[in-house]
Amino acid sequence: MTPLIEARDLVRIYHVRRGLFGHATPVRAVDGISFAVMPGETLGIVGESGSGKSTLGRMLLGIDDAQEGQVRFEGREMPARGTSDWRRLRAKMQLVYQDPLAALDRRLNIATQLAEPLEIHRLIPKEHRAARVSELMAAVGLRPDQATRFPHELSGGQRQRAVIARALASRPKLLVCDEPVSALDVSIQAQIVNMLRDLQQQYSIAMVFISHDLKVVRNVADRVAVMYLGRIVEEASSDVIFRTPLHPYTRALVSSVPRPGTRLQRRTILQGEPPNPANRPSGCAFHPRCPLAQNICRVTAPVLRQIDDGRTVACHVTAGEDAQIAA
Ligand code: SF4
Repeated sequence: MTPLIEARDLVRIYHVRRGLFGHATPVRAVDGISFAVMPGETLGIVGESGSGKSTLGRMLLGIDDAQEGQVRFEGREMPARGTSDWRRLRAKMQLVYQDPLAALDRRLNIATQLAEPLEIHRLIPKEHRAARVSELMAAVGLRPDQATRFPHELSGGQRQRAVIARALASRPKLLVCDEPVSALDVSIQAQIVNMLRDLQQQYSIAMVFISHDLKVVRNVADRVAVMYLGRIVEEASSDVIFRTPLHPYTRALVSSVPRPGTRLQRRTILQGEPPNPANRPSGCAFHPRCPLAQNICRVTAPVLRQIDDGRTVACHVTAGEDAQIAA
């Protein structure tokens, strides 16, 4: 089966200048990332702030260019940004941002904003647009009387529902959701996540769900890729990642997630802050914070390896012949 979207060895480098007269330092925000998402599947991408998750999300949609590697959608290479082919494809791939107020136009009411993509992409005849707008509003749980409201007249959760309705207007095959609930109250987060999951199943949409919050990702993702400083360090089914995390970074992240119905497990507190991407540690970038680090970790970067249970992991110790040391 052809993946819906595929990332192949993606690299994105920014040049960061230190001080007014300093040299520009290349920063590999995304450093050789590959994965595939099948139709209707949800891939969760997790990691701390600065791990390159959001840049990766924008690269998948062609909003940020890759300096190396390529994105393929339904088996074909992504057309160049700004071309008519790319614009046509973008209707099938939508982005849901963290901040719904920034994503909506404050001067237009909700019905007008939902009708916009129908008009821009000429998706349905004008006389059917109002009915489609009502359908979209109902799908995301907005009331008919909210059609004439402006974004500032809605709550944060209602605004995010409107953003999702607009993303659904073009009947996309892929939603890239970048921290879609992190700006919302905890009580609202679950409602929006459940709604996204229901809509995804109803319309067979694939999702790339980017979040720093593993609790949220666990509720929505079929598979999870864990990112650290621009690279994937572990990828597996959601069940495997949360039941038996292998990479020490994944273990620390998962240990902070309470599991319903089980005693609180011993939490691993990560030492220190994530390193500055402009000053990447030698060898394994995680070694200054890793409780299992050995000499080889300071010198040689581990490569992602597939292991028996179908996961991939990049770690000299937990994925290698020395795995029993770490058990
Ligand atoms: Fe830790 Fe070494 Fe594995 Fe990196 S390679 S995660 S430093 S044990």
